[in-house]
Amino acid sequence: MTNAKSAVTMKALFITAPQKWEIVEVPVPEITKDEVLIRVGYVGLCGTDLELLNGKHPYFSTNNASYPMQIGHEMSGTIAQSTNAALPVGTEVIMDPIVGCGNCAGCKNRATWCQERIEIGVRRGGPGALAEFVKVPVGNAYPIPKGLALRDATLAEPAVTAIAGVSRIKAAGGRALVIGDGTIGIIAAQVLAHRGWEVLIAVLGERSAERVKALGFKPVMPNEMPSHSVNVVVEAAGTNRSIKSSFQAVCAGGEVVLLGVPDTPMESFDVADVVLRDLSIYGVLNGPGRYKEALTLIAEGVIKSPKIIDQVFPFAQFGDAIALLANPDRKLPKVLVSM
Ligand SMILES: [Zn+2]
Ligand SMILES: [Zn+2]
Repeated sequence: MTNAKSAVTMKALFITAPQKWEIVEVPVPEITKDEVLIRVGYVGLCGTDLELLNGKHPYFSTNNASYPMQIGHEMSGTIAQSTNAALPVGTEVIMDPIVGCGNCAGCKNRATWCQERIEIGVRRGGPGALAEFVKVPVGNAYPIPKGLALRDATLAEPAVTAIAGVSRIKAAGGRALVIGDGTIGIIAAQVLAHRGWEVLIAVLGERSAERVKALGFKPVMPNEMPSHSVNVVVEAAGTNRSIKSSFQAVCAGGEVVLLGVPDTPMESFDVADVVLRDLSIYGVLNGPGRYKEALTLIAEGVIKSPKIIDQVFPFAQFGDAIALLANPDRKLPKVLVSM
């Protein structure tokens, strides 16, 4: 660990080409009065990082991402430099990676609607958190509640998406099917259960069925998928096949929350079925404005970090962390790197 006051350079991870990365010494970022410098504690890795590593993320084809790039968008750490009275040096924080331009019509509503937005560690070259220090705008750093461990607080970023998705549902309760047993799917299931829903989780095989049972949820195998019978489906797997299953599972008058982003357009979609059965569909990108709620739910144990975080790897073992993340047989969905 390096002292920010004396540090001139820091270690940071750069992806230089598909599947190629290196940890190099670079200058510590300089901040303006509107930014804070965070000494990174933990970084969570997810499917977005894998797509950025293998060059398959859709942002590459729209010129919103290019190599060399610095990844890491789910993070927690400690303020190392700040001129902001509300965020003094030593404050433990998490980062909202989405930084809108602040001037467009999209930004007036949600930063995620801004075409010019930077997503730190993902989009438009905002240097990511897989480094000893990261700088963020003052408004993108959220203090961590007292008693919540830095390690567990890294779940706030995936949690806001799950919370925003579940919060779109208008029905007060009933049977909900979650498709996808990754971090966002599990968090959505935990929040739904907390709100009184009966929750089923769709799984692909015996191994993930065991994992889902150990988490306290009812697994549903591919041959037992509900047909026109659940009130709500939360789709967090992001494949065209799982999206089709969502519409097959939901009952008339039901609601489908789409959190996953498929990498290819769907070849056919039955709009008549949506109209004839009065279905509601919600597309949900991230959850701006929900960070305080996410941190509270993690601190209160509604979002159960011991049932989500698998292993924590030191920065130097980034390759091992990525290998575990790419292994579908890992015990729990989330892999962390400690800096
Ligand atoms: Zn992520
Ligand atoms: Zn904007």
